[in-house]
Amino acid sequence: MMIIDTADLTKTYNGRGGCRGITLQVPEGCIFGLLGPNGAGKSTFVKMLAGLHRPDSGQATVLGQPLGRPEARRKLGYLPELFRFQDWLTPVEVLRFHGQLGGLRPRETRADSFRSRIRDTLELVGLSEAANRRVGGFSKGMQQRLGLACALLLEPELVILDEPSSALDPIGRYEIRTLLKQLRGRGVTVFLNTHLLEDVEELCDEAAFLYGGELLAAGPLHKLLGMAGEGGSGRGNWRFRLGGWLPDTWTELNKAAGGALSGQLSLTEADESGNALLSARVSDREQAGYLCSLFIANGLTLYESGPEPHSLEAWFLRMAKSRQGGATP
Ligand code: ADP
Repeated sequence: MMIIDTADLTKTYNGRGGCRGITLQVPEGCIFGLLGPNGAGKSTFVKMLAGLHRPDSGQATVLGQPLGRPEARRKLGYLPELFRFQDWLTPVEVLRFHGQLGGLRPRETRADSFRSRIRDTLELVGLSEAANRRVGGFSKGMQQRLGLACALLLEPELVILDEPSSALDPIGRYEIRTLLKQLRGRGVTVFLNTHLLEDVEELCDEAAFLYGGELLAAGPLHKLLGMAGEGGSGRGNWRFRLGGWLPDTWTELNKAAGGALSGQLSLTEADESGNALLSARVSDREQAGYLCSLFIANGLTLYESGPEPHSLEAWFLRMAKSRQGGATP
């Protein structure tokens, strides 16, 4: 089942900004990453999904219900990009209040079962020790965790997180990634707005790329990576870290390869100690393997070889640039 299904969804602000014509399907049980630079329209899109913005046009269902239905909202957890808690409240009080916003009576939020739910949720986001401290003294990262706790408190089937890692340090990011994987393991669908490509590459089963309010690409991550040149075939850009490099090495190698390296292999950097970084455009893994054997046969030391990292990022940037120029990616 598609847990989010949109067709031509559009929302602008007096005809400007926002996002336009978004048709997107998100399968149940996955971690889905919506990527795009700041101002791409990601928040506008998820605010429509969360029922906070009414679309100008288009259709959508969330959890099988048309947008804004209370039945779907009850099963949806949402972490907005910008939020603030009252300084004088503690996390336990914030979550109790949040339970009431979610439809529980004050009496129900004081019941033992709900208290233990609050405890479990705070533990899940790593805030147990701060459970009764005032939010006013919290770091940004701790506030972000509390926001996440609010989104997870009522055990949603779908969580929509708008830049959940933006205020976190590397350890905090790692912990949030681990948490999101745990949620997926429990069958929760996670929809993640992010500009952090590393989050998408590590976490997401599927992804989409938004730019200037328009959807440029969407699909399973391995397909997007394949389009970016890192598919199972190995086609794409490879890099090689070598030792023993001399000024005339490139010419020697090209001669040994019968001139086939021109336009294919380029020297990215080299230092006086003979360390060099090269990149090559290859059609498959075998061709990369051939280059490795060529380097070794010519007396070079091969320290490292593999696909260029962040090909996805490079591809997205290419697509974004081509949009600016009006050309096809
Ligand atoms: P993102 O989440 O990708 O950073 P947003 O959805 O916040 O993007 O914004 C997309 C575009 O819509 C931006 O150009 C932004 O300036 C504009 N925008 C967002 N919210 C408003 C608003 N409330 N009023 C006017 N313009 C807005």
